[in-house]
Amino acid sequence: AVPVSIMVGTGRASELGVLFRRGDALQKLRDVRVVAFDKTGTLTLGKPALSGVMAEGDEDAALALLAALESRSEHPIAHAIVSAAQERGLDLPEVEEVKAISGEGLTGRSEGSELRIGNRDFLTVPLPQALAEQAAEWEGTGATVLYAQRDAQVLAVLSVSDVIREEAPRIIAALKAQGLRPAMVTGDSEAAARHVGAALGIEMIRAGVKPMDKAAAVEDLRAEGGPVAFAGDGINDAPALAAADVGVAMGSGTDIAMEAAEVVLVGGDLRGVPTALELSRRTMANIR
Ligand code: ADP
Ligand code: MG
Repeated sequence: AVPVSIMVGTGRASELGVLFRRGDALQKLRDVRVVAFDKTGTLTLGKPALSGVMAEGDEDAALALLAALESRSEHPIAHAIVSAAQERGLDLPEVEEVKAISGEGLTGRSEGSELRIGNRDFLTVPLPQALAEQAAEWEGTGATVLYAQRDAQVLAVLSVSDVIREEAPRIIAALKAQGLRPAMVTGDSEAAARHVGAALGIEMIRAGVKPMDKAAAVEDLRAEGGPVAFAGDGINDAPALAAADVGVAMGSGTDIAMEAAEVVLVGGDLRGVPTALELSRRTMANIR
């Protein structure tokens, strides 16, 4: 039988926008020591905008080609690139055979050429120095840098910038005040992750983590700091949500993330994270 105080606790939580999909999550939350977050779409709004392009050749032509490729992707980065091409009024060429490699990038073909866009490791040819310097400068500002290639040539580097959620600094401070360790697990680069971490006071960071490896990153955090709650929004977060002692999905995120989580935050309100932890502590204190 479910103790009455747990029913009261989960009832109170739902009034506060924190939905418990499993009754025992309230008990497991009490033991959590590390609270890990996905970066893009969880600590940030996940609505990045294109903030820079440097092409080897015509910039608009490169952007049009890449936007055509990205128009087949659901990733927030894809929306940034497609919107920028639309704002410039560019006509998008035909692309075919588009494939998404989750957490890495996209490949496709256009007018007989092979196209690739993704993180730095996704390039299969060396990056010209001028583009490498521009990329390093953008990374220093915390932007996410994308690398695009056509056949055996680098086509362009692009930067997209996202905004940290306004409420995030207070949430991280509240967790620390509860004696918990905040952490971040992201597929984005070390530089972008460190930038957001520094702004929020998160020191435990696992960056450049492929979706497949997100579960192992959670295990790693558990080995270092104890039981882990993980909050995320994306399809790529499902393994981490499942691996965590308590998975917390943003209600504004993907259905797959919500299926993998024990707790769902209505409307993606991140304030639900400290609320849930505090409620669990109070509820469990009533039981013992
Ligand atoms: P996060 O963990 O921050 O949500 P992802 O795992 O979704 O990030 O993506 C990690 C990285 O993979 C991105 O920062 C980007 O470099 C690359 N990437 C993923 N999808 C795309 C895409 N559609 N276009 C370009 N790059 C992509
Ligand atoms: Mg995400």
